[in-house]
Amino acid sequence: MNVTELARKLKVPTKELLEILPVVGFDIGRRAIKIDDRQAARIVEQWPKLKAKYRELTSPAEDKKAAEIKTETVVPKQVAIPPTIRVKDLAERLKYPLSKLMAELMKNGVLASMNEEIDFDTASIVSSELGYEVTADQSGGQAEEEASQKLEQLLIKDKDGDKNLIPRPPVVVVMGHVDHGKTKLLDAIRKTNVIEGESGGITQHIGAYQVIKKDNAITFIDTPGHEAFTTMRSRGARVADIAILVIAADDSIQPQTKESIKIIKSAKLPMIVVINKIDKPDANPERVKQDLASLNLVPEEWGGNTIVVPISAKAGTGIDELLDMILLVTETERVHITANPAKPAVGTIIESHVDKGEGPVATMLVQNGTLKRGDLVEISGSFYGKVRSMKDYKGQDIETAPPSTPVKIIGLKASASVGDILQVTLDVDKKKKVSKYQLNQQAVDYSRPRETSDQEKKNVKTLNVVLRSDVLGSLEAIIASLTKLDHPEVAVNVIAKGLGNITENDVQRAASAEGLVLGFHVKPTQSADLLARDKKVEIKNYEIIYKLLEDVKARLEQMLTPEVIRTDLGRLKVLAVFRKEDKKMVIGGQVIDGRIPPMAKVDVKEDKFKKATGIIAQVQVNKVKVTEAVKGQECGISYEGKPVIVEGDILEAYTEEIRTKKIQ
Ligand code: GDP
Repeated sequence: MNVTELARKLKVPTKELLEILPVVGFDIGRRAIKIDDRQAARIVEQWPKLKAKYRELTSPAEDKKAAEIKTETVVPKQVAIPPTIRVKDLAERLKYPLSKLMAELMKNGVLASMNEEIDFDTASIVSSELGYEVTADQSGGQAEEEASQKLEQLLIKDKDGDKNLIPRPPVVVVMGHVDHGKTKLLDAIRKTNVIEGESGGITQHIGAYQVIKKDNAITFIDTPGHEAFTTMRSRGARVADIAILVIAADDSIQPQTKESIKIIKSAKLPMIVVINKIDKPDANPERVKQDLASLNLVPEEWGGNTIVVPISAKAGTGIDELLDMILLVTETERVHITANPAKPAVGTIIESHVDKGEGPVATMLVQNGTLKRGDLVEISGSFYGKVRSMKDYKGQDIETAPPSTPVKIIGLKASASVGDILQVTLDVDKKKKVSKYQLNQQAVDYSRPRETSDQEKKNVKTLNVVLRSDVLGSLEAIIASLTKLDHPEVAVNVIAKGLGNITENDVQRAASAEGLVLGFHVKPTQSADLLARDKKVEIKNYEIIYKLLEDVKARLEQMLTPEVIRTDLGRLKVLAVFRKEDKKMVIGGQVIDGRIPPMAKVDVKEDKFKKATGIIAQVQVNKVKVTEAVKGQECGISYEGKPVIVEGDILEAYTEEIRTKKIQ
């Protein structure tokens, strides 16, 4: 055998083979051309072993030692990463300094602030560069879970051995299906509390407000677009003590009602069911009660323990009774609804945005302790600034905020995220940790254009959108919901997002990506509007997240290629051709399978080869028009299509249904 042939077989260069063989005991010359067949067979058989032997014999001792050391020391650290993760959470998981991680990201062309979410791919690239072995964290909602536990710890730790706990106002969250009247109810409650002479009783929108009933305060979480709150479910549940489930009397239990029940149950919150819209002529509160009972939520009046209050948010009926009921539930839950106002404050951010003049502004719900003007505050151990001023829900400046007070904080150095736990910094040295980077007045993230993302590479059609919202909570909720609109063929690609009104930049951005601008509770500036008209960029504004999502879903569905469903009907053998015209033929044949009806589509086949597709215009049996000819029958057929049919051909009849695909 030629040595070259053997080398080819072993997939090594001939030169290398000639070098290896003498070293491992096959005594052939370094210039040998031929090799004995038996020897060759042995070499092939033992090749992996021979290669290993050669390596062992030739590698220098130091190399070996180095290799050993390397295998000893390089045990990669493990990190589990969820589908998206905030930069600061990743830093925590990697136990790596936040500023260095941000620098590392920047090296990779990702300019992300500490609160920004990065996707799995980005996070895993940086993590592996830092020597981590990355695994996917499938636990879902773990960050939420962690935050929830952290808060509980903070609050419980505080309660332990604390003799100074006193009752605090209950915090109430309103949930339910879209259009069942959550907003209207929150408005109606607000109105009952207009104290005469008070600047019209108009509340500022800060994400929560308080009302006073019989000298007791009640705090209501009033998030914009309540569907947002459903997305932020554990956050909502975490801050609330009592849940109100709104069900419209004319619509009864709907999907989001069920979802809300699940959330309320899993958070173990006491629940008050409100049957709303009882003023409507088609209201049927009894049906709602029956539907509740069928879900094991038997109303009290039927002997169960589900509290049900009928109301009309529109007419204002039943609101007083509802507030009384909230106070009653508060009394029965009294042991849990307490706090120590003497402590430094701890609470959850329920709204956050960047104000052009005031910088980052956040609404915090104080959950324990009292927040005071001038307090230094931190989130997850990072210094966030000083409470320069505080405003209550009426927009009035306040000096102190006791437990259960929603309060707008001005003076933060960085914008917080909804759900963040903010606490007063006791260790003044922490001030040194001031983070200087994330103050972005414009608050628009243009840093990560993703038009040519993996999705596109995978031939996924993307709907490119620029998102703008009034507050961070809604923006986060919208993005979370949009990523859930999952389909193998189409996806939403958020190319830029930000808080505040829609700008020319947004339009420009959408234009270059052939996308559109979606606004939630925001408007385009005049110049943005003009530019949009000029560039033919669509700007859509929404007041309800649900509507925005429905609209995006419909757009995605339009992008899906329709599905064609073919149903085979029958086959006919052509026995004679009677007439042949330009685009028509009249033929005779026998049905050999199924049935042949008029108006069916047909494939014309000659020896199994399809040569044309046409339509059966008419079917006749014994010269009489029929609605079908069945197996065994002979019939005449007028065919429309390419006139290529000859005797002996087979016509296959079928129908085709075009079905537009849906996104679940
Ligand atoms: P949300 O999506 O649950 O916040 O629902 P909204 O509060 O926006 O209410 C949806 C629609 O129902 C609005 O047109 C309201 O005016 C109307 N609505 C809400 N409550 C009542 C009510 O008690 N009676 C009647 N007739 N209409 C109501």
